[in-house]
Amino acid sequence: MKKQLVLGAVMGLLSLLPAKAQHSLSERYAQRLTLPKNYVCYRTAEKMTIDGKLDEQAWQKALPTASFVDISGDGFATPKYDTQAKMLWDDRYLYVAAVLKEEDIKARLTQRDTIIYHDNDFEVFLDPDGDGLNYFEIENNARGVIFDLMLDKTYRCGGNFMIQWDCPGLLLKVHHDGTLNNAKDRDRSWSVEMAIPHQALTMNFSNPLKAGQTWRVNFSRVQWLKAKGPEENWVWSATGKVDMHMPERWGFVYFSDKQVGNGADTFTYPYDMAAYRLLWAMFYAQQDVYAKERNYIRSKERFFFTEAELNALPKGTTIDVEATKRTFVMSVTVPNRQVRYVLNNDGRFTVEQIAPRVVKNWVWTRIDRNKSDQAYREWFGLLKACGISAVLFEGYNENLYKLCHEAGLEAHYWKWTMNRRELLDVHPDWFAVNRKGESTHDKPAYVDYYRFLCPNREGVADYLAKDYVKEANLPYVDGVHLDYVRFPDVVLPVSLWKNYGIEQTSEHPEYDYCYCEVCRAKFKAQTGRDAMAMKFPMEDQSWINFRLDAITHVVDQITKAVKADGKAISAAVFPGPSMAKKMVRQDWGNWHLDAYFPMIYNGFYYEGPEWIGRSVKESVQTVQGGAKIYAGLMFPDIKKDFEKALDEAYDNRASGVSFFDGPTPEYLRKLKAYLDKRGFSVQ
Ligand SMILES: [Zn+2]
Repeated sequence: MKKQLVLGAVMGLLSLLPAKAQHSLSERYAQRLTLPKNYVCYRTAEKMTIDGKLDEQAWQKALPTASFVDISGDGFATPKYDTQAKMLWDDRYLYVAAVLKEEDIKARLTQRDTIIYHDNDFEVFLDPDGDGLNYFEIENNARGVIFDLMLDKTYRCGGNFMIQWDCPGLLLKVHHDGTLNNAKDRDRSWSVEMAIPHQALTMNFSNPLKAGQTWRVNFSRVQWLKAKGPEENWVWSATGKVDMHMPERWGFVYFSDKQVGNGADTFTYPYDMAAYRLLWAMFYAQQDVYAKERNYIRSKERFFFTEAELNALPKGTTIDVEATKRTFVMSVTVPNRQVRYVLNNDGRFTVEQIAPRVVKNWVWTRIDRNKSDQAYREWFGLLKACGISAVLFEGYNENLYKLCHEAGLEAHYWKWTMNRRELLDVHPDWFAVNRKGESTHDKPAYVDYYRFLCPNREGVADYLAKDYVKEANLPYVDGVHLDYVRFPDVVLPVSLWKNYGIEQTSEHPEYDYCYCEVCRAKFKAQTGRDAMAMKFPMEDQSWINFRLDAITHVVDQITKAVKADGKAISAAVFPGPSMAKKMVRQDWGNWHLDAYFPMIYNGFYYEGPEWIGRSVKESVQTVQGGAKIYAGLMFPDIKKDFEKALDEAYDNRASGVSFFDGPTPEYLRKLKAYLDKRGFSVQ
């Protein structure tokens, strides 16, 4: 009430003292950012006689609150006299009781709604819906004289008090363990007992008390230890400032459906408290800035959050600030709880539900003919239970695809694209030729299975398109998945160099494709030049583009045919696409598939998990929402940084991940726990 206005002025002067500018928000407002108290309020079935005496069994069973402390909180003196409160509820009333230790019980005021804290008093503050607006205050002195009022907003936000509000149906009595207004004897305590009807608290609030609700409540005891003051303010949940009108600092009271003494509920704060406290620290900063500059902070950067402040927030949390000269709305969005906390310049705090982020996760797998149906069933069941939605099978087996479907998973046919040894005898002329004139037909690069086709040969694209349409139409196939959509590696990942005893810091002719007569003739027709005669073919952009486009044309033809059949099409691609272009002449940023699975196998490139994030970021930027990006993760490479690798993929907006060579059941369960922790919904 009025005293807060006077004290507010004092606080105003203090804030003009030179601020330690370097201090972070959480340091500056530390006193106001401690965890508010909490209490579980149980039901009573007993008829409560409101006489100020707490002799009902229900009161005896109810646990007291923590003893009251100085309103300013940590570091301030322990109150001279102990005070504790208790709460109960039933279908009609919220009951509040308090015992105030006292050596000299006294009360002067006798009229309702006089300024009761001019006497020693007990005060109850109630904000049922916790929005910081339209809250109630009931005070009484040791005579049981009541001062009750309602506020539309807090004083700091220009609120108005309505003393004309008289809590309808309020029952309140006091009891003295000692004598009233007799300074000559030594008293022990006085107690308050009140019953507040649910219906009395429904103004601007259409949600009377129900089990499962959490209200914001605080208690205060004003005590005049010296006749002329200053008065003491002893409270249940310290606000951290001599101001009770800070509903965000009041205690949390959870209403249990259990009868008092009949089991216990564990209290859980209804908000993410790290996000909640940061939002309020921002509010305090806004108020301080406004007091000095008559203007609000307009961007989150201007709050100068520290690493520690941001790291204290749950993963994926975002902060938004919108402000004008006179108003602001700030929010903290916490995806793992699927909520957004919103706070405005009126001190109105609300919680908005947000849709969960939907992700889809995959595994690549080879078909194991020795594995039983039962073993497959169990594995599919585990995948499904742990947040995997789809399996990419290398090859086809109708029964296996069927089992996969039965477990609720999608089954995709993963098949190599340009690498096609089945054509060795049928079309020996279709195979790609390197700069030394050697064909993958006779002399494949690196390994025997590197039998790549030339994308420019007549019939190649047509053959591949028809082949994928055929696979796409097999029973239980949800889509086709392309792989080896490229030339042989002109540059291998660095970790493989030692395997082949080569140093690929430049492009070697034996790994540089395709220089077959068809490619050379086509390129010559376009540019008038012979690729074989170039001195530095690796630096010739039109020759590089010619080959990138040749692969893209093949992919376009396959894509058109598969999509015309209404089937999904995706591909495993090299990271990037910047690296893909350089290493294997794969320009997948210009393709039109439904999804890309960049194989971000960090171990191949001697990179840590951060590189996964950088690579996913580039991929997501490349497709610009036109396709999904699933981060291809080599399980053995990420095992020791499993969560970090997942963070890197998801935080850079991958639509999901796909595992190669794993994960083991243990890590599948870790994946499940991770997805739950992040609050992701699995597609
Ligand atoms: Zn060729």
